[in-house]
Amino acid sequence: MRKRLTIENYKNGILAGDRIILSQAITIIESGLTQDRKLASELLHEILPATGNSLRIGITGVPGVGKSTFIEALGKHITSLGKHLAVLTIDPSSKRSGGSILGDKTRMEQLSHDPLAYIRPSAANLSLGGVARNTRETILLCEAAGFEVIIVETVGVGQSETQVKGMTDFFLLLMLAGAGDELQGLKKGIMEMADAIAINKADGDNKTAAALAVQEYTNALHLFPKSESGFESKVVSCSALEQTGISDIWNIILAYQSSAKTSGFLYKNRQSQNLEWMYEFIRQTLEMSFYGKPLVKKALRTVEKSVVSGSELPVKAAQDLLDLFFREDILD
Ligand code: GDP
Repeated sequence: MRKRLTIENYKNGILAGDRIILSQAITIIESGLTQDRKLASELLHEILPATGNSLRIGITGVPGVGKSTFIEALGKHITSLGKHLAVLTIDPSSKRSGGSILGDKTRMEQLSHDPLAYIRPSAANLSLGGVARNTRETILLCEAAGFEVIIVETVGVGQSETQVKGMTDFFLLLMLAGAGDELQGLKKGIMEMADAIAINKADGDNKTAAALAVQEYTNALHLFPKSESGFESKVVSCSALEQTGISDIWNIILAYQSSAKTSGFLYKNRQSQNLEWMYEFIRQTLEMSFYGKPLVKKALRTVEKSVVSGSELPVKAAQDLLDLFFREDILD
């Protein structure tokens, strides 16, 4: 195990905005080692009073829609206003390729050299959705380090959008014109979650199609029930490449923030996100403990086979495994 600093060192370093210490602290948060978990939990407790002051933005869209190009353009706009920006990327492919960490850094070339910006790509810990838990904690660390805007990027895969929606204030969906909804892997639920939809690549020959898409999605959004925040979701077009429409999107985000603050929704939303976080943590911990039990591990494969072959009903199989879990618990 690498040498660790004291809690006090981490805390002071983070509060002073020291990025090296911040990065080290995030690594501890992401670590699975028991000792590190304890350190992480104490550290989070220590920095808690300095958290909560950022604007948290979630950005999603299918691979190729232009997320990194867009985040770079929006990020440069945000830092040009003198704001400190942290970008947290969640990359489900990193587990498979094992090498996207560097890849991610170079994806946002300009931003990575911007003194006001901090980019942290995290390898997705796919097991039991651990990604979400760590990202929430990373957001808190970044806030304590003085970042005023935090962007959480996610590739539109599985449950990741719901998770990111559950930890941010504003959720932006990037889309393309004319690609067809199935092609974009678009689930109605994701559109419904979005506070804004931006049709990217509205440049060159694609401008007219983008304008049409804006119209279509605006109409589609009208069919959805009004969002809890009371904010009417916006649809706009932009070109991340040519950097057009970017400041409009930033202004929409600011308008949202202002209205959600005034109405109290911002605060209320974060309260319910915290509750959800607690329940999620309980679920994950129980699940990890269940699958980690030797008796369960040993029986799992055989039980799986009987369910697949139809010789055992799923509910009975689950009950047998749970019995093993509880029995082992008593034996512990
Ligand atoms: P990601 O996979 O969603 O992160 O997408 P990237 O940002 O890597 O972009 C995918 C490709 O689309 C790259 O070749 C970009 O240069 C291109 N791209 C991104 N934004 C735009 C845009 O606004 N207009 C055009 N024409 N191309 C873009």
